[in-house]
Amino acid sequence: MAKLTVNDLALQGKRVFTRVDYNVPMEESNGAMVINDDTRIRATLPTLAALRAQGARIVLAAHLGRPKGERVASMSLRPVADKLAELTGQPVAFSDDCVGEAAEAAINNLQDGEMLLLENVRYHSCEEANDSAFAEQLAANVDVFVNDAFGAAHRAHASTVGIAEVITARGGQCAAGLLMERELQFLGEELKTPDKPFVVILGGAKVSDKIKIIDRLLEKADTILIGGAMAYTFKLALGKSVGDSLVEPDKVDIAQAALDKAAERGVEFLLPSDNLISQMINGKWANPELNRAEDIPDGREGVDIGPATAARYAEAITGAKTILWNGPMGIFEDDRFAKGTMAVAVAVAAATGAGAVSIIGGGDSVKALNQNGLAGQVTFMSTGGGASLEFLEGNELPGVAALTEK
Ligand code: AMP
Repeated sequence: MAKLTVNDLALQGKRVFTRVDYNVPMEESNGAMVINDDTRIRATLPTLAALRAQGARIVLAAHLGRPKGERVASMSLRPVADKLAELTGQPVAFSDDCVGEAAEAAINNLQDGEMLLLENVRYHSCEEANDSAFAEQLAANVDVFVNDAFGAAHRAHASTVGIAEVITARGGQCAAGLLMERELQFLGEELKTPDKPFVVILGGAKVSDKIKIIDRLLEKADTILIGGAMAYTFKLALGKSVGDSLVEPDKVDIAQAALDKAAERGVEFLLPSDNLISQMINGKWANPELNRAEDIPDGREGVDIGPATAARYAEAITGAKTILWNGPMGIFEDDRFAKGTMAVAVAVAAATGAGAVSIIGGGDSVKALNQNGLAGQVTFMSTGGGASLEFLEGNELPGVAALTEK
């Protein structure tokens, strides 16, 4: 069912606790923490603009890293407040603690349209425990809850679920932010009845991470293209040799079941016909070469799809009307093994240009598109990692379930 969004609310003068995903990568430089990638901060700007335009008093809350209930200085959100001020051109106040007197005073200082960022909610172990007294404290000085943290929606924590329950219980409203709304739209609604042909591209390390998604999408997809290490577990199921490739021998049965289901339902299920292979010597990849055979020799690992596979996959992608892509085709972090992933990225961008809806299910595929300068040429890139996978599996996310129905 549809959830309230920020556009459904009247927020003039209201104190709006806005949960965002500011879990950004940081690095120490000259004794200070510097943000390496501000994508997640930028992704919240439409919601913040909507809240500001309505005259809301914006109380931002987020987690950063895994401080496990300790005040770990390198996991402070303070640099994020500075970055947000820079990106919005507006002052952003900062409170040293997300609850208690410091937070109360900072919230009371806010005027309509102003922003405050609270310190890392995970400095309190009660956050991840979804402790109800802590949720009460978070809710103590606010009127409305907005959740824009799709990337944290698969966890029932105090700042994602507990606070929503407190605010709902006292008759308040809990709404999705605009980023959350877009995530639910593209990973949810758009894939319910996708325009056909619907082509799904799955890669990455493990079959076990994505088997539920494969199983679910076998009900809808016309074609499923498999790359990455997970292809080799499917190869094992087909009785091929995979050399020293990364495989999950205990998942051969579920791989076989997926192959059987694809055959039953007439879903085209493609595995690599050629591979780049390499061997690890003294901690370094050595002797990369193309393997055109279906079997991989002993002592070698499959590290990328080969050119014939890339061309075949690109052809399938070219004819698609809806595309879902999650996971790289090889160890793309190494330039020598990134060609297969790049070929898929280029094909997805081209198909989008020709009218297909392309949905990128988060994580490394987003990284690959960014690396190739193609991020602007796909329809939607999810900001979630684990949350995207869980949602694509068909699970209800607790952070979404806790929001108010329209
Ligand atoms: P995932 O998080 O499951 O999407 O997996 C992404 C990771 O899978 C990346 O770090 C890739 O380096 C890795 N990966 C992709 N293909 C292979 C492969 N053939 N062998 C080992 N690792 C791979």
